[in-house]
Amino acid sequence: MTERFIPVADLRYLQAVPHIPKTLTPATGLLSDQLARPLRDLRISVTDRCNFRCVYCMPKEVFDKDYQFLPQSSLLSFEEITRVAKIFIAHGVEKIRLTGGEPLLRKHIEKLIEMLASLTTHNGKPLDLTMTTNGSLLTKKAQSLKDAGLGRVTVSLDSLDDATFKRMNDVDFPVSDVLDGIEAAHRVGLGPVKVNMVVKHGVNDQEIVPMARYFKGSPAILRFIEYMDVGASNGWKMDEVIPSAEVVRRISEQTPLEEVEPNYTGETAERWRYVDGSGEIGVISSVTQAFCSDCNRARLSTEGKLFTCLFATGGHDLRALLRAGHSDEEIIAAVAHLWSQRDDRYSELRTINTDGLARAVRKVEMSYIGG
Ligand code: SAM
Ligand code: SF4
Ligand code: SF4
Repeated sequence: MTERFIPVADLRYLQAVPHIPKTLTPATGLLSDQLARPLRDLRISVTDRCNFRCVYCMPKEVFDKDYQFLPQSSLLSFEEITRVAKIFIAHGVEKIRLTGGEPLLRKHIEKLIEMLASLTTHNGKPLDLTMTTNGSLLTKKAQSLKDAGLGRVTVSLDSLDDATFKRMNDVDFPVSDVLDGIEAAHRVGLGPVKVNMVVKHGVNDQEIVPMARYFKGSPAILRFIEYMDVGASNGWKMDEVIPSAEVVRRISEQTPLEEVEPNYTGETAERWRYVDGSGEIGVISSVTQAFCSDCNRARLSTEGKLFTCLFATGGHDLRALLRAGHSDEEIIAAVAHLWSQRDDRYSELRTINTDGLARAVRKVEMSYIGG
C-alpha cells in the first residue's frame, strides 16, 4: 500500500499585527469594504480541538497524536473574546456564531455565552447568538446552553446510516447520540435547529434522500453543504463535490421542491420548500455558486487572529493589540482600517479557475479558523 502524505503548511504562525491609524475615527456601525460589503457577522472559534476526525476536516493522518494543538496560553480568554465582540458590535456586527474545533469542548463555555448574551447590537437589539456543533455533547449540555442565553444551534450531521456516519467522523461515534442531541436542543428551545450535511461524492451522497425524508416535516431545517477546498489537509478534488443543483434534483424527484426568497441579504443558504407544504431545506453552494458579493462575515481564530475570508492565507493578530494594552478606540480604528481594505472573494475566483486555485493557494485549516 502506498502511503498518503499530505503536506500541511502551518499557517497559524503566519501573522500580521494590525496597523493603528493616526486618526482614531469612532465606529459608526456602517463599515464598508472595497466591494461595498458591510460587517454584520462574526464567527468565533473557541477551540482548535475536536473529539471527531471528520475525513473532510481533520483527517487522522494529519491530526494524529503528534499534532500540536494550540497551548492554553495562546487561547483568548473569555474576557478577551467579549472585548473583541464588543468592538465588532460597535462596527455593526449583529450575529455571533461560536464554532471551532468542537466548541462544546471548551471548558465553561456557558460562562462565555452568558457574557456574550448580555451584549446588544449597536442599535440596541438583542444579539443573534448561535453555535455550530457536532452534537456529540448536546444531550448533556442543551439545557445549560439555553440557560446561559444561547439562541440557536446548528448541528453537523453527515449521515443517518450508522456505518457511514462512523466512517465520516472516523472515531466510531454513533449517529443515535447526535440525533438525541438534536432532539434535546429542540426540546429546550434552542431552535429552529439547523442540521448541516456536508455531501462528499461516493462517501455519503446516497444519504441525501434519506436525510431529506427524515427531517421533512420535523422542526429542524436541513441544509446540504458542498464539500469545500478549505485548508490543505483534506486533499480536495472537484470531482468529489456534488453540486447543490444535483441535491435539489435528487430530492425533487421524490418530493417536488420550489425555490423561496432569502430571509436576508448575505444569507449563505439558498432556500427550497416542499410544494406540499411540509417544510423546507437549504443548500449552501460555496463551490458552484459563490456568494462572495454579499459576504459580511469575519472570523476570529482561537488565538485571536482576524480572518476576513474563510480561505485567507493569514490572519491579523488582534491578540497582540489586546495584550499590548491598546485602548478599545485604537483597536476599533485598526479593525475599521482592515475591513475598509478587504477585497476577498476567493470562491468567485475559484469558480473561474477551479482546481488550479484550490491547489495553488495555501489556506488555513477549517478546524482552526472555525466554520
Ligand atoms: N465541530 C463543529 C461542527 O462540526 O459542527 C464546528 C466546527 S466545523 C469546522 C463547522 C462546519 O464546517 C461543520 O458544519 C462542518 O461540517 C463544516 N466543514 C468542515 N470542513 C468542511 C469542508 N471541507 N467542506 C464543507 N464544510 C466543511
Ligand atoms: Fe470536528 Fe467539526 Fe471538523 Fe468534524 S467538522 S472534525 S466535528 S471540527
Ligand atoms: Fe466570504 Fe471568502 Fe467565502 Fe467569498 S470565499 S463567501 S469572501 S468567506
